[in-house]
Amino acid sequence: MKCTLCNSKNYKKRSGSVRDNKQLEIFECCECGLVFLSENSHINESFYEESNMHQSFDFSKWRKETLEDDTRRFSFLKNSLLNKKVLDFGSGNGGFLKLAKEVCKEVTGIELEKAVIAFYIEDKLNIENNLNNIDSKFDIITSFHVIEHIKEPLEILEKLKSLLEDNGKLIIEVPNANDALLTIYKSEAFSHFTYWSCHLYLYTSHTLNLLAKKAGLKVEFIKHIQRYPLSNHLYWLSQSKPGGHQKWGNFLDSSELTKAYENQLASIQATDTIIACFTKED
Ligand SMILES: [Zn+2]
Repeated sequence: MKCTLCNSKNYKKRSGSVRDNKQLEIFECCECGLVFLSENSHINESFYEESNMHQSFDFSKWRKETLEDDTRRFSFLKNSLLNKKVLDFGSGNGGFLKLAKEVCKEVTGIELEKAVIAFYIEDKLNIENNLNNIDSKFDIITSFHVIEHIKEPLEILEKLKSLLEDNGKLIIEVPNANDALLTIYKSEAFSHFTYWSCHLYLYTSHTLNLLAKKAGLKVEFIKHIQRYPLSNHLYWLSQSKPGGHQKWGNFLDSSELTKAYENQLASIQATDTIIACFTKED
């Protein structure tokens, strides 16, 4: 087996397991650091079309769950979205697009999940289920927590690049393979919880950068962000369970502490999330 990103044959097994498929192994390329599953043939497009990503399909609950991330992404990007034509690839429940629609010239979502269509219509959001149905170009293309699900990420980035206007920007957010809970604290419980059979690849700022360069994209910035606060990490280390921010957040987390912790993790590239902005190479 060769690393799909750098062609190295040198890879090692990562400790931990895939929470929904114990047969799979987790590997890390020793050259570039790409994290990948031992097998990825268990996932195809129809898997996502039929709501399989969710245990049950409750649209308003789903919107509530993503509201914080949708709002964070919208506030971060708001200035660059003004009067722009925006495409969100893998737009999920459309929560980000609903916010973006208020300031953008036009918004379109690409989403395989069939069950969301009715809700997009209700919110007057354009939706397509395939990039090949798109025949115009965009100022901003976003894709939040989608690229790690994709079997052929290079193909997709090349396709997204072809849909960018000349001065357009491609914004990609993915989970960070070097999350502190795995690489610094080495939480065993977390290593049996975080890996998921849908995440075929996990990227770092380095490997995301490599992938984008292969697709002929230029990096404008890669930013490390931390979605979960210190209380969540302490709870993993003490109780070996998720949800610590709900249990301990009210007395542990303050906005100063949360910001300082994020900055500290970012300085060692060990946040849980990375967001990158790419442009077309000129
Ligand atoms: Zn590699």
